[in-house]
Order: sequence, then structure tokens, then C-alpha cells
Amino acid sequence: MDRDEYLERLGATAETPEDLFEHVEERSTAGRTHHVLTAARHGVERGTVIVEETEAIVRGYPSIPRILVLGPGVPSFFEDGETVVIEEKLDGFNVRIAAVDGEPLAFTRSGYVCPYTTGRARDCLPLEEFFATHPEKTLCAELVGPETPYSTHDYEGIDTHEFLVFDVRDRETGTPLAVDGRRRLCEEYGFTQPRLFGRAAPADAVGPTRAAIEELDAAGREGVVLKSADGERLVKYTTETQHHEELAYAFSLPFDHGRDFVFSRIVRDAFQAAESDADDDRLEERAHDLGESILRPMVSAIRAVEAGETIGERHTVRGDPETIGALLDHLHDQSLTVDLESDRRVDGERVVEFVKVAESSRDRIRYYLGGGTR
Ligand code: ATP
Repeated sequence: MDRDEYLERLGATAETPEDLFEHVEERSTAGRTHHVLTAARHGVERGTVIVEETEAIVRGYPSIPRILVLGPGVPSFFEDGETVVIEEKLDGFNVRIAAVDGEPLAFTRSGYVCPYTTGRARDCLPLEEFFATHPEKTLCAELVGPETPYSTHDYEGIDTHEFLVFDVRDRETGTPLAVDGRRRLCEEYGFTQPRLFGRAAPADAVGPTRAAIEELDAAGREGVVLKSADGERLVKYTTETQHHEELAYAFSLPFDHGRDFVFSRIVRDAFQAAESDADDDRLEERAHDLGESILRPMVSAIRAVEAGETIGERHTVRGDPETIGALLDHLHDQSLTVDLESDRRVDGERVVEFVKVAESSRDRIRYYLGGGTR
């Protein structure tokens, strides 16, 4: 592998290939050698993959900045004269689907090929048809629904899971299609997409964004991604429900999540409250919900450990037995402790409920319950 050539193809800002490649990990996946960038470095996104055998590059999905205050945030993020498109942000799992050597593979954000997601993507989406015409593109989708191995947020009308395509990018350069062109292309292939709330000039986009957030909040949904019409510039903003849901999740496994995770959600909620909670009653209601999302899940976790129950992330997955087996192997390969809670056949499919055991939380809670000191 000629590292100088890859540095150039990636457009990396590193001075020498070694500066970039010291963050690259070699993995053997799907019968090929993948070189994966484990952290964003030198202008190249985390999860970027170089496939050794075919020399294909699959660019990582960029990190999306967040605004904390809508009023000044929206007009200062976008430029005058730009059109802002307001799209729903879905709470699921980022998947990049690209054809490597003609074979569609689903990559996780950190650059693993997930056998389950690959299998489901091939079953649910017309990938052969799409990649026959667009072999150089990557479909960026959110895998959402109650039955995925990575997230569990419920969406009305989705019983198991669904892929929603929110971006189409050049596989090697990462350049996105413009929002309108991408939405048309997705319609052409019948890909489901996130809801579009509207378009406006930056100074006029605050009101519609606020209205969208209120509607999404009332429906228990995550938030919005605001996009420049050319698809290049993205910024996110989320609902109160989402902040509290993420806090509840973190405090249900209190010693498995860093303090940064928790603090950042409280900061988001505080700035939102300062901007939008017009009266004291509203602020009090938020404070109450915030407290509940911290205390209740943590007390439940302590009681669960005391009762000898397993604590961790619970997931259900279904699919053909071979794919489910490959998924469980994939999770084990990532050094996760997985407990199977049930394993059934339904209409020829294997349906497995499992827990990714939260060992740090379990062990620390046991230690304190046993009288351990801090
Ligand atoms: P970061 O973006 O900083 O890496 P993160 O990994 O915590 O942060 P999120 O806060 O969930 O990610 O926000 C970015 C993710 O939102 C994207 O990677 C994508 O998977 C997801 N997403 C959901 N809906 C959309 C949408 N309409 N447009 C863009 N991204 C979306």
C-alpha cells in the first residue's frame, strides 16, 4: 500500500503519511484487510476505511456540530444568502452503505462492517439497483426502531427496524449531494427519508426550527439537523425529551458512561431552558423532569443489582439464523459481554433478546452495596 498516494487521495492535512497512519488500525473483515482510522485526524473523519485488496476508500461520516441557542446560533452558523433546510434528526445508529468490489457492505460509524446491518440493508433496500448506477456513492442512513443491536428508540409505525437515508456522499471524497438532489434520488429508489420541515434564509429559519422542535418534543422525538442547501454544512439541535432520555439512559448504567456524557446533556438542557422556558412554571417542570431522569434510573439500577439481575443495554434482533449468529460473534469480537435472555424461532427467523452487560456499573454498585467506600 503506497501511503503517500493514500494521503493525497484522502486530502489529509498530515505532513507525512506516518502522522496519519499511526491512528490507523488493521482489521480483517468480510474476507478483506481494512485499514481503519480510529479517530478524526488531519481533516479525515473517524471510521474512514481503506480496503487493501481493492484500494477502495470509504470515507467516514463527519461529526456534526451542535448549537445550544437557536436565536443567534442559526444565523451565525450559516452565511447570508444561503438557504437552510430543516430536516428531522432521528435517534438510531449511523450506517454507511458502500459497494466494495461490487458487494454492498454496511459500515458502522467507527468503521466496522456489521454483518447484521449488512444483511438487513441488503434485504430492506434496493442496493444492487442503486449501486449498479451509482457505484461511487455511499448511502448514509440511520438504522432506527426497537429491534436493532445498537439503539432502541421507538418510532411510531416501525415495529422492528427501518433504514432512513439522510445523506448520499461520494465514497472517496465524502462530498455530499445537494439536499434537493439527494431527496429526489432517494425518492427514485424508494428509500425512506427523514421528514423535511422546510427551507428558509438563515435569519428566517429560527422560527420554523423552534416550531419543529416543539412538535418533535411533544412526540418524544430527537431533534433536527439544519443543512445548507448544498449539503455541505450541517448543524444539530435537540429536544428536551431527548436530553432527558439520554440522561436516563446514562444513569441507568451510571458507571459505564463518562462524566462528559452527562454534563454535556445538562448543559444542552440549561441553554435551551434559558432561551425558551418563558415562565417559572415551565422551568420548574423541566427541573422536575431532569431530576427524575437522573435519580429514578440510578435507583432502579441499584435495586436491580441488589436483586441479582443483569444490568446493561437490552436489545432484540431478528433475521436469518446465519446473520444473527454472525452478529453475536461480531459483538463478542468487540470484547462485549453479551447475555442471551431468549432465543426463539418465529416464522423461520431467529429472534434473540440479549443484554450487553454493563460490567463497570454492576461491579461498582455491588461494591458499594457491600459496604465499600468511595
Ligand atoms: P457527532 O456528530 O459529533 O459525531 P454523535 O456521534 O454523538 O456526534 P449525534 O449527536 O447522534 O452523533 O449526531 C450526528 C448523527 O445524527 C449522524 O452521524 C447521523 O447518524 C444522525 N442523523 C440522524 N438523522 C440525521 C439527518 N437527518 N441528517 C444527518 N444526520 C442525521
